[in-house]
Amino acid sequence: MTWIDHNAPLVTANDRAAVDRVLQSGWIAPGPERHRLEEDLASYFGSGRTVATTSGTLALFLALVGLDAPAGALIAVPTYSCVALLDAVRLAGCRPLVVDVEPDELTMSPEALRDAAERIGQPYAAFVVHTYGATAALPELAKICPNIVEDCCHSFGSEGPYGRHGTFGRVAVSSLYATKVFTGATGGLCWSADPQIAERITAYTQASFRSSRWPRMTLTLSDLHAALARSQLSRLAQVRERRAWITNQYLAACPDALAPTGLPDPGRLVYRFVLRCADEKERERLLDFFHLHEVDASRLTQRHELLHRELGFDSHYFPAAEAAVARTLSLPLYPAMSDADVQRVCDLLTQLPR
Ligand SMILES: *Cc1c(COP(=O)(O)O)cnc(C)c1O
Repeated sequence: MTWIDHNAPLVTANDRAAVDRVLQSGWIAPGPERHRLEEDLASYFGSGRTVATTSGTLALFLALVGLDAPAGALIAVPTYSCVALLDAVRLAGCRPLVVDVEPDELTMSPEALRDAAERIGQPYAAFVVHTYGATAALPELAKICPNIVEDCCHSFGSEGPYGRHGTFGRVAVSSLYATKVFTGATGGLCWSADPQIAERITAYTQASFRSSRWPRMTLTLSDLHAALARSQLSRLAQVRERRAWITNQYLAACPDALAPTGLPDPGRLVYRFVLRCADEKERERLLDFFHLHEVDASRLTQRHELLHRELGFDSHYFPAAEAAVARTLSLPLYPAMSDADVQRVCDLLTQLPR
C-alpha cells in the first residue's frame, strides 16, 4: 500500500513540452509567454485585462493597487482563509477588518460583515474567498462593500449563480501555486474588466513605473511558469470533470451524517471534500483512522491560523470559524489520484469507526 498524499500536482508530457519550448526558444526573459497567458485569461473571462504576477499574495496586493486603496483603509477579510490575505493588506499599507464566515460553506458572512462594519468601520474593499469552490454571497456582500475582490484561488473554473467565478467583483485574483486548481509551480493572476483598474495594475508592474508611494519590485511572472500555467489552463475542463467524478464517488460512499453540502452543484469546481464531524474528538478519531490506512486526511486550516487569532482578537465574534476548525476534515481530491486511490478512500469511507 502506498501513502496517498492530501494533494499533488498533475504534470503531463504536454506541460513539460510547453516549458521546454520556452527554454529552447532562446528567450527566457519574462515576455511573450506571459502575455499569451494574460490573453488566455482575458478570453476565459470574456473581457478585461489580466496581469500574471509572481504569487497569489501579490495578486491580492495588486488588486488593492488597482482599487487605489488609500493607506490605512480597512479591507474586509474572512477569518477562515489564509495569512496571505493579511500579508496583502499589510503590503498595501491598509488594515484588516476580520469577518466571520457562513457555518456551512465557510465563505464570508454578510451578516458578520455588516456587524464588523458597524462595530469597527466601513471597509474600503473586501477580499471574498470562494472557499473550497463554494460561491460566496456576492450580491449581499457587495451591498455592504461594493469594492469586491474575488479570491478564486480555490475555485478557479467554478460557475456560480452569479456567473463565472471572478466576473462579479471589481477584481478577480487567483494563485498558480503548486497545490491550486491549475499551477505554474508558483504565480498569481489579477484580472479586472474595469479599464481604469486594469491600467493602474499594469502600470504598477511595469519596470519603468515611478511612484513616490510604492517601492518597485519584480512582479511579473516568468515565461517558464507562464508556459506551465497555460498548458494546465488548457485542461481546465478535464480538471473540473475529474474532480466532479471523484466527488461523486466519495459522496456515494460517505455516511449521510458527515456528507458535505453543496458539492454536487453542476457548476462547482470542487477543490476540497470536507467532512463535517460532530465534534473535535470525532474529527481526531477519523484523522487517525485515515492516517493509519495511509491516506493523508488533513485538518486544513487550524485554529491558530484563523486570522482573528493571528491578530490576537477576541474569538467571541467568530463562532462559525471556531466551530469549523474543530470539526472539519479534508480528504485527498485531485486529478493526479488514480482510480485505485479513489477506490481506497471510498472503501475507508464505508468503514469509518463510530
Ligand atoms: C493560496 C492562496 C492564496 C495565496 O496564494 P500564493 O500564490 O500562495 O501567494 C490566497 N488566497 C487563497 C484563498 C489561497 O488559497
